[in-house]
Amino acid sequence: METKLNRRDAIKSLGAVAAATGLGVSNPLKAEESKNYLKGSAPIRITKVKAIATYPHGLELVVVKVETSEPGLYGIGCATFRQRAHAVVAAINKYLNDFCVGKDVDNIEDLWQSTYQSSYWRNGPVLNNALSGLDQALWDIKGKRANMPVYQLLGGKCRFAVDCYAHASGKSPGELAENVTKYMEEGFRHVRIQLGGYGSTALSQRPDFKNAGFGLERDNYMDPYTYTKATTDIFEKTRKECGDRVELLHDMHERLQPMEAINLIKSLEQYRPFFIEDPFSPENNRYFKLLRQATSVPIAMGELFNSPQEWTDPIKDLLFDYIRIHISQIGGITPAMKVARLAEAFNVKTAWHGPGDVSPVGHAANAHIDFAVWNFGIQESVNFSDKLREIFPGAPYVENGYMHINEAPGLGVDINEELAAKYPIPDVQMNNWTQLRRNDGTIIRP
Ligand code: MG
Repeated sequence: METKLNRRDAIKSLGAVAAATGLGVSNPLKAEESKNYLKGSAPIRITKVKAIATYPHGLELVVVKVETSEPGLYGIGCATFRQRAHAVVAAINKYLNDFCVGKDVDNIEDLWQSTYQSSYWRNGPVLNNALSGLDQALWDIKGKRANMPVYQLLGGKCRFAVDCYAHASGKSPGELAENVTKYMEEGFRHVRIQLGGYGSTALSQRPDFKNAGFGLERDNYMDPYTYTKATTDIFEKTRKECGDRVELLHDMHERLQPMEAINLIKSLEQYRPFFIEDPFSPENNRYFKLLRQATSVPIAMGELFNSPQEWTDPIKDLLFDYIRIHISQIGGITPAMKVARLAEAFNVKTAWHGPGDVSPVGHAANAHIDFAVWNFGIQESVNFSDKLREIFPGAPYVENGYMHINEAPGLGVDINEELAAKYPIPDVQMNNWTQLRRNDGTIIRP
């Protein structure tokens, strides 16, 4: 009798969890392991959307925290646009919070669509980053409610880990090749190589515009010949020193004139680059058709694109091999999944932007999508400092050239708000993107 009662109680208890989660009676979770919010009745409402800005290592990081009517249930998402961080913070605290409070946390698509058009004018980097913070936080919450990592909600794993590339540089082609070797010894199969910074500006001589007193002393100069020569030299030297197996990548950072860019990429074909990134500024997108006719070197493009719509034509016209999306820049996981699925139909692969000015929660969002989409290509990786890991417990980690996540429900990354507050972003920002000029002082558009 006692056994029967216990069994009936257990079934009843499992049924309550199943009803709350929609997972059915085969839900492997034990009721006692479930969080309180799994037993709560829907809908759970948004009670607050706020920005958390932090500056632990000289880069403005902005994160959105979405709080809910369920005690203890919240989500966080990346909204980092460091060059205009204060504007993103205002967009979140002054507008997004008011728009979202009272809405159902479960309806991610509806919240994305309604927020996206709530300002009427849309698709700018400030508003898209704020929207991304909301979107990623809602996926984080949904994962916590389901007691699953977000990648499971996106379809589950296509691979055991996320293959990454490292960034190698050096003072000379020889030193650069040595640094590539070090990364290979650490286990990386893919290494990006740059000499003298983007556009090799550090290698260029003092330009005439500075001698003439034009522009500011801190403005950078880029000499196209110096850069193209340095880039062919490093590919030649690295192939010679490091062999054929390592995959080599390079970021042109949109700094050459279109024909200069096409000529450089053609000359690199013999070194079998894994991809060449950002050959043209977005204003010069029409040149991709000429580039495709000139060379078969794989191309990665798009970290400056704002709208998910900007990907449609280049994907269907087979102009890019890798879509280089800055996930927060286009509004988060929801639009990134749509672009990734569109790209799959054309055998175009992902290569999400993953620099230091993406917060650890943003890197986690990258990784969750990387796990779930079949057409994953490669992931840009950074090493998080101990300080950053303390502020963002649970951040992804890289081992043997692979990024791993911690398998916790949601995105798996938290934020220590007290610690984050110890590193406020500066009031006055000098974060204008590098002013880069030609010899006569003409601005170069990255
Ligand atoms: Mg780039």
